[in-house]
Amino acid sequence: MNILLIRPCPHKSSINLQSFMMCEPLELEYVAALLERMGHETDIVDLVIDKSLSRALKAKKYDAVAFTSYLVHVGIVKGYAEYVKKHYPDIKVLVGGVHAEVVPSDFESPYIDCILTGGMYALEGVIKGIEDGVTRDELMMLGGAPKCQAFDFPHPARHKTARYRGHYNYIYHDRCATIKTSFSCAYDCEFCFCTRLGRYFERDLDDVINELDEIEEENVFIVDDNFLFRRERIIEFCRLVKERGIKKTYIAFGRADFIAENEDMIELLASCGFDAFFVGIESFKSGELSDYNKRTSVEINNRAVRILEKHGLQCYSGLIVGFDWVRSDFDTLIGYLNGFEHPMVNIQPITPIKGTPFYEKMKDKITTAEDRYELFDMAHAVMEPLNMSRRAFYYNILRAYLKTSASARGRRYIKERYGKSIYRRVRRGAVTIALQYIKLIIAPNR
Ligand code: SF4
Repeated sequence: MNILLIRPCPHKSSINLQSFMMCEPLELEYVAALLERMGHETDIVDLVIDKSLSRALKAKKYDAVAFTSYLVHVGIVKGYAEYVKKHYPDIKVLVGGVHAEVVPSDFESPYIDCILTGGMYALEGVIKGIEDGVTRDELMMLGGAPKCQAFDFPHPARHKTARYRGHYNYIYHDRCATIKTSFSCAYDCEFCFCTRLGRYFERDLDDVINELDEIEEENVFIVDDNFLFRRERIIEFCRLVKERGIKKTYIAFGRADFIAENEDMIELLASCGFDAFFVGIESFKSGELSDYNKRTSVEINNRAVRILEKHGLQCYSGLIVGFDWVRSDFDTLIGYLNGFEHPMVNIQPITPIKGTPFYEKMKDKITTAEDRYELFDMAHAVMEPLNMSRRAFYYNILRAYLKTSASARGRRYIKERYGKSIYRRVRRGAVTIALQYIKLIIAPNR
């Protein structure tokens, strides 16, 4: 069969992060590799770059089209599915990805034939079902095949995105590939979606290193939800990388408590090519950290940042803005972040994501219509701020960015450390986001 795999383009109302971070559609590359192993032909189209679904569909006669999707893409993907069915009624339309696995009901649509709640584990059965001409109901059932823990998938078919790869970047690293060495997370922070995807498990490290060795890009973003989990695994990872002579620059997610308690691991990782860690600092308030069940503290966060700075690693910090914040909280946040050597922050209004315990607790407080999926982008306020207007809320978020990561000191640092070309891309991204926030300040209910 001919199968077209599509990454959707975000809705124009979503806050646009593409100039800052545009990762390869790794999940589609995994799917392409599996389908090729089954003897099918696949193409991947990245609509973030290519834009035109109609052009992609005209390229050849496809038997099935599969979309990947996050929460923020649900409306767009349903619209794409309708377009496909209306113009090509014989094409089977499948939807997969993390949101489909956790909240499949969001994708109920007469234009979607199968929701892959079983993820990759269901794919083989679904494709065989299409070949056998099963009914739509039977196809839906096949999409819900139970997941098993045996990870027997071929390495992602990165050659399928060859024409896009020059666009893939992650913050200060151009031409950046991604790799996944473990799935899910062993922690259970209230607001986090990662753990809803199943139990934490780790891939075999020899297999990971073989895949790493195949990657052409020098920059690699390890997209594990938490790469810093077990000392022994980190030591073995570094040993294998050095033994195989793999020379790359790495970025990864890691918890502050691990960094704070394992400085020697950070030193080892720095010697192995690690350049930055994305750390979920989340808050400078201990009460909020315990509300989120983060199992860390402000002191631990501070120590983690200092250790990364000491070893020359960049700390990308994720901060969550509470909807009960007052203006002085933003002032404290700015002061707190400027206590870091080089603050690089992602400031997000607290967002209850469907499927998480936090959503169950807060769903009555959500004031944004839940079918406006594009506004659940972790940048719009989907709950009404309690102590200021929406306009003031957005203004303070923008102010916090301008006085920390985007300050004159921050801009100078980026230019010096990463060079003018990266500085220009990041500046372009920052201007785009600032303009979107300014529009929200002018018309906060867009
Ligand atoms: S926020 Fe980080 S540590 Fe917490 S559950 Fe999610 S991935 Fe794990």
